[in-house]
Amino acid sequence: FKINMEELKLLEELGKGQYGTVQKVYHKPTNVTMAMKEIRLELDQSKLNSILMELDVLHKSASPYIVEFYGAFFIETCVYYCMEFMDAGSLDKLYQIGVPEDILSHITRSMVRGLKFLKDDLSIIHRDVKPTNVLVNSKGQVKLCDFGVSGQLVQSMAKTHIGCQSYMAPERISQGHTYTVQSDVWSLGLSILETAEGSYPYPPEKYNSVFAQLAAIVESPPPSLPESYSQDARDFVALCLLKDAKERPAYKALLEHPFLSKYGEDEVDMKSWAVKAMEARIAREEAAKNAPAAPPSS
Ligand code: ATP
Ligand code: MG
Repeated sequence: FKINMEELKLLEELGKGQYGTVQKVYHKPTNVTMAMKEIRLELDQSKLNSILMELDVLHKSASPYIVEFYGAFFIETCVYYCMEFMDAGSLDKLYQIGVPEDILSHITRSMVRGLKFLKDDLSIIHRDVKPTNVLVNSKGQVKLCDFGVSGQLVQSMAKTHIGCQSYMAPERISQGHTYTVQSDVWSLGLSILETAEGSYPYPPEKYNSVFAQLAAIVESPPPSLPESYSQDARDFVALCLLKDAKERPAYKALLEHPFLSKYGEDEVDMKSWAVKAMEARIAREEAAKNAPAAPPSS
């Protein structure tokens, strides 16, 4: 079915990214709550239909590890992309409560399964693996979003600000053009590390400039999980963060790694963690909203 703006009731804002805003919306005809992402584009009208056609592949297949796509429409120079609403939110807003290793393993396994599905079933490289693009719901499901389905859309996105956290693999920074599935494996490793540690592994405050930060990614030995984690977890992250892209394992090998295979399918209570992390996020957001404004200067 087709979705248009008239059928949607706009609810609260879920977040802002480099390309626009994500809003919670209610689709009246179907009674479905959705997340609607507004993407400002820099392009001529003639490309709009090819973007819609490229997005159409998403209607043809589904995975429990990929956020469901409901439809997209255009208004002037913006694309409105409607997808499954994930009530717990993105990983970057959940890991603050701490992530035990079985939960970390479960999240990682879901991510690898999602990435493998994109590659095997849709021939897509994600291109933007990072904690803000890993969404969780209160059922305990973990799903990827914001992958590069439409080449035309990726090319046309107008950046409104440049992020100061790069998940780009070293070979992408130094060679610029090559983007392979191995680059996604690096971004996966960095995302797991951030989720475990609770902060981005190349903190901007440590570097004098974005240039110095990118240079560190290319030139320094890769970051690693501390000794407090199991050898399996540390080894898994180290394999994803090998500086030589060709040495990084394929998804099949990653799924067979003990860090992912040692926990049975229903052994990890992801649901309880997801609910606890979601409640903590909501409490933090409430506290920020109610925080007293800065005292008036006398
Ligand atoms: P970037 O623009 O660099 O990709 P980002 O991923 O944070 O950064 P957006 O993709 O615009 O930016 O998303 C903004 C925020 O909205 C996300 O951080 C996430 O917390 C929230 N969000 C996005 N999609 C959904 C969704 N389907 N359900 C619930 N929350 C979502
Ligand atoms: Mg995103």
